[in-house]
Amino acid sequence: MITKVDHIGIAVKSIDEALKLYQDILGLKLVETEVVEEQKVKVAFLPVGDSEIELLESTTPDGPVAKFIEAKGEGIQHIAFRVNNIEQALADLKAKGVRLIDEKPRRGAGGAKIAFLHPKGTHGTLIELCERE
Ligand code: ZN
Repeated sequence: MITKVDHIGIAVKSIDEALKLYQDILGLKLVETEVVEEQKVKVAFLPVGDSEIELLESTTPDGPVAKFIEAKGEGIQHIAFRVNNIEQALADLKAKGVRLIDEKPRRGAGGAKIAFLHPKGTHGTLIELCERE
């Protein structure tokens, strides 16, 4: 069902500030930034081999990423696994009793179909499923 780690989502206060590390010092390449209005977040994607780093900056003080930083500080916010068929994956997980945040996929950055599992049922890690064309 899961084919790879699609990306790791890292909550930061400022993407511009974070790029000084990830781009200028670590040498990763910024390929795309995008605002996902629905999630009140601006994202920046930096590929690393077969996966990507996704920097997340809140666009409003009350967005989920802002709340995450308020509670836990900057850092890893979620891990995203690539799946071939997200609807099927969600149905399988639900049948296995896994708590879902999203019963149906929603649209994420880059046109991906995404859905989150509830961290209460995943030993504390927010897991995103991600299907791309
Ligand atoms: Zn993500």
